[in-house]
Amino acid sequence: MAKITKKRKVTYYIGIGMMVLGFILFISVFFSFASFMSNPFEGSGTPSFTNSILGMVLIIAGSIVMNIGAKGTAGSGLLLDPDKAREDLKPFNEAKGGMINDVISNIDVVDKIIKPNEEKEVIKIRCRSCGSLNDEDAKFCKSCGKDL
Ligand SMILES: [Zn+2]
Repeated sequence: MAKITKKRKVTYYIGIGMMVLGFILFISVFFSFASFMSNPFEGSGTPSFTNSILGMVLIIAGSIVMNIGAKGTAGSGLLLDPDKAREDLKPFNEAKGGMINDVISNIDVVDKIIKPNEEKEVIKIRCRSCGSLNDEDAKFCKSCGKDL
């Protein structure tokens, strides 16, 4: 099994960081443009499109860096070796599978907590004279005091 080197992990996270930064730069232009349009006379000046271009460049560069980090040089398209690329991707796919399993087992735990409560609701005795619900082991009605 292929192991992910520390260097490649770092490369991967740098790529993600670049993409996030680029995305923030990119969408910030739309926000400043929106405020400019709604209030053109006292707004914060004309929106800067340099930021959005810089943001787009960062997103593209970040995705390339992330790809190299995730798949190695083989999977990034720099080297054409599909078998090597698949082998390189294995640890990432296994990590993804592990996370999904964790989520599923968490759902199982939640299900088990809810179910006993539902069963408890069923085990109640309805009083014959006033109709209020009493615990299964109650001898007298808690509402009117008559024998159950
Ligand atoms: Zn009663």
